[in-house]
Parts: sequence; structure tokens; C-alpha cells
Amino acid sequence: MSATWDLSSLYHGPDDARLDTALAAAKVAAASFVETHRGRVGALDAGGLAAAITAYEDLEETARRPGFYAHLLFAADTQNDAARRLVDRTREAALGIANAIAFFEIELKAMPDDVFERLARDAVLAERRHWLGLVRRRRPFTLSEAEERIVNQKNVTGRGALVQLFDELSGSLRFRVDDRELGGEETLSLLYEPDRELRERGFTAFLDGYAAHGIVWTSVLNGLMQDHRLECDLRRVPDPVLPTHLDNEVRPETVDAMMTATECHYELAQRYFRLKARLLDLPVLKNTDLYAPIAEPPAKIPLDEARTLVLDAFYAFDAGFGALAQDFFDQRWIDAEVRPGKRLGAFCASVSPRSNPWVLLSYTGTSRDVATLAHELGHGVHDRLASGRRPLDHLPPLTLAETASVFAEMTLTRTLLDREPRRDVRRGLLCAKIEDTIATVFRQNVLTRFEMAAHARRAAGPLTADELGELWWSENAKLYGDAVEMVPAYRWGWSYIPHFIHSRFYCYAYVFGELLVLALYQRYREEGAAFVPHYLELLAAGGSEAPDVLLGRLGIAIDDAAFWERGFAVLEDLLAELEATLD
Ligand SMILES: [Zn+2]
Repeated sequence: MSATWDLSSLYHGPDDARLDTALAAAKVAAASFVETHRGRVGALDAGGLAAAITAYEDLEETARRPGFYAHLLFAADTQNDAARRLVDRTREAALGIANAIAFFEIELKAMPDDVFERLARDAVLAERRHWLGLVRRRRPFTLSEAEERIVNQKNVTGRGALVQLFDELSGSLRFRVDDRELGGEETLSLLYEPDRELRERGFTAFLDGYAAHGIVWTSVLNGLMQDHRLECDLRRVPDPVLPTHLDNEVRPETVDAMMTATECHYELAQRYFRLKARLLDLPVLKNTDLYAPIAEPPAKIPLDEARTLVLDAFYAFDAGFGALAQDFFDQRWIDAEVRPGKRLGAFCASVSPRSNPWVLLSYTGTSRDVATLAHELGHGVHDRLASGRRPLDHLPPLTLAETASVFAEMTLTRTLLDREPRRDVRRGLLCAKIEDTIATVFRQNVLTRFEMAAHARRAAGPLTADELGELWWSENAKLYGDAVEMVPAYRWGWSYIPHFIHSRFYCYAYVFGELLVLALYQRYREEGAAFVPHYLELLAAGGSEAPDVLLGRLGIAIDDAAFWERGFAVLEDLLAELEATLD
């Protein structure tokens, strides 16, 4: 089995002449699209609009493909100069095309409501109604074209400069732990060390390092929050979270119900923290013990074996699901080898429903890596199941994006648990899954609450570092209760979270995704094979409808608090299963 991917179905290399041909063709197509439609979108009839949307979609896809290839090449080898140059070249070309055709969505938004409603009701546009709705929903908050242009330009030196300052300063920090000088990632990874004192020294050094630049983080976050508030005022957006809800295609009430339900179950997390303290033989956990290993790391799992484990679990769930995943290995759509220069982390990327997705990870043989393999292949199968959708409808919003990946991990964990007789291995599997769920559901809820409170307070003026620290501390204290003691330096815990800077209010989508999967998994356990076709249908819908519509077809009402309860019931079962290994 090959552990590297074969990209030749895209292009033959960074010098492939077809890259230039594709970019040139996209440029010509964009010019002709502008020529035909600019200034005339509002006058199209339904048939004309349907044809224009298809042309727009094809054009976008052609323009994206060379850049997509460059991005894969670069991820596989970040030291490759030819790949880096290709990334630059394709990015510039794609940006030029995107700017040229941006008028299309602007003109669609500008159509008067009655004209738009009449068009959208036409059967010719039935398949496009959802996408048109996505474009139109920002209409009430849109400024004039000239104002939008000013906002975009001023963002480069305003918001963009603050984000860049955050990135550059946090990327440059080094932390002294004992005699070693470490980068940020390495320092944070000390939290997984078996030595308790080392974990605490490492995390404290990390937070103290951030505290030393406290003025910068405080000023950057205050600046970004004020920038967002001013822009919301200009656009008459009533609530700073609303733009995120629009992206995620969820109603504010749904998110409120979900977050409140999560808070009602903080006690489940505390129950786990107490158990973990017992497993580590500690009277009470500190927050530097949350990720401490509970046992010797198990033996490494070779990639061949991981492939078998994951595919077995997928085939047992559904033969078609298994076969769609197996192609990634047979067709070499996956790059799992560990190599110097390869990008960190893992991803599954897809350029269009008309071609296969690609998976990248660095497989080192830990059980975490096996879970990552299942996760990314879950994304891959999701993309492939949705290959019948139009490119504009292919990928779901964030709230649904992690459905197949997290479900795949859950399937793997269950398969491993069911075949594992050794108690300590079972315990390790259960702890890993529960810790993952706590980090995704409860911690992300805390992050979102902090962010919401900070934005609300910013309306009355800038927050001091102390106030931000106090807010952070009190939101975390709600989760930890008396089950976890926070180390004093954790007052600076808010300062290093990149989501607050890069993608405001992003974190609640993690809560949504994970709870949704747990609830779907519970349905699967109750209904068995009868559930599978409904689930596959949900995935095959891709991003063609909003989450509440797609889930409604499965009889799930996401506004109903009882729905979220089902997710917590799965977590409670996992906890009970873990407790049973302790007797
Ligand atoms: Zn994912």
C-alpha cells in the first residue's frame, strides 16, 4: 500500500502547461461573463438567470482548480519553491477573476424584493432557490457598492493589520521551560506529558509569555471588537453574533437553546474530571492535568492495520460507505506519510463535486492518528456522497460540516470498544472519546460565552486586561466548579485563542456539530440499519438546504431542547461505561 498520494489526475506537475491554459481560459470566460451580464442582472428572466448562475458556477470552478492543485502540492512539501510560486501565481489569477465577477452577487442582492420573489418562484430556478436565498439574506445589511469598497479597502490596514500583528507576535514567541527554549505548539504539547510538575511549569511559562505582551493582546482584541461593533452599526445589524448565524444558517434561538442545554450539563464534565482525578490518584485536578495520560501509551499501530480497522468499522456501518472510503487508498487520494517539510495537521479538501476529494495527514501510529484517519475519511465520504449536488451547493455550512467526520470517529471508537477485552485499553479509548467531547462541546461553549460577554461589554468602552481576565476566569469557573483548580496564570488563557481574532464566534459551531453527531449516533443505536439510509441521504444533500430543513427530514427538530438532550445521553452512557471499568 502506498502512503503517498498521486495528484496526476489533476496536473502533471507545477510546470504542466495545462495550468496556464486553465488560468487563461478562466480569464477569457470571466471577461465574457462581465461583458454579457454586468449591469443587466436585474433585467434577466428566470431562464436567463438560471443560465447565468450555471455559467458563474462553472467559471468559479475553473478558476479555482489550478490554485487547488497548488495548495495540495504546497501542503505536501512546504519547502518546494515551485509549489510556493505556483500558489502565489494562482492566487493572484483567481483573485483577479473573483474581483471581476463580484458584481454578479452584488446585482442579485440589489434586485427589488418583488422582482426577486417573482423570479425565485419560477420552477426553472427551483434548484437555485437555496443558493439565491443565501445571497439575498444579507440584503438588509448591505451598504452601497462604493461604501462596500471603502470598507474592504480600510479593512486591509484596519482589522487586517490587527490580525497580522496578533499572528506575527504569537508566532514569534519562545518559551523557556527548564533549560529548553520552545515554540508555542511544543510548549502546549507538554500538557500531554506524564510528569505533573512539568505540565504545570510548561503551561505557566506559556501563559506568562503571553502575559508579558498583555498590552498588545488587550489592545488588539478591544480594537477588533470595536471595529465589529461600528460596522454592525453602519449596516444596522442588531446583534454582533448575527452575521455568524447567517453564515451557519441557524437561527439565534436555536443557538441559545443549545448553549443553555450545554450549561445545564456542565455537571457531566465535572463528573468526568473527578473520575480522572481518581485515575491519576490526585485529590483534585488542576487544569494542567486535564490532558494528562492515564496509562503508558499503547503499542504503535502500523498504517496498514489502521486502514483495516477504519475500513472494517465503515463497512460494518454500511457497505457503500466502506467502499467510498476504500477508494482513497486504492486510487491514492490520500497522503499519510510522515515527511520533513510537510504541512502540520490533517485535512480533507475538495475543489468540486465533479472530482474526488484529497486527504492529507501525517500518520505516526498513535491511536489519535487512527481517529484522525477515520475523521478525514469521514469528510471524504461526505464529499463524495454529495457529488450529485451543484458546485454552489456541494459543501454544507460549518454547523453540518463535521457531521460525517465525527460520526466516523464515533463508529471507529465503538468498533474498537466492542472488540477489545483488555480493561485498561478500553479505559484509554473511553477517556480519549470523553475528553474529546468535553473539549469540543463544553470548552467551546465556555469560549463562546466569554466572547459574547466581552463583545457586549465593549459597547460601554474598552475592557482592561484585568476585566478580560476576570470574565475569562468566571466563565471557566462555571464549567470546572469545584472539580478543577485553575492555575493562577490561566487568567491570561483568553489571550492566545486565535479564533477570537481570526473568526469571531466560530466556536459554537463545534458545539453544534458534536452534539448533533452524538444525537444522530444515539438514533443509530436505537434504530440500527433502518437509520442508515436516512443518514446517507442527509450527507448526500451536501449544502443544498439549511441544517434545520435537512435535519427536519429525519424528524429532528433542532429548536427542541429534547433534541440536544439526546447528545448528552450518549456522553452519560460513555461515562457510565468508563465508571464500570473502575470497579
Ligand atoms: Zn473535520
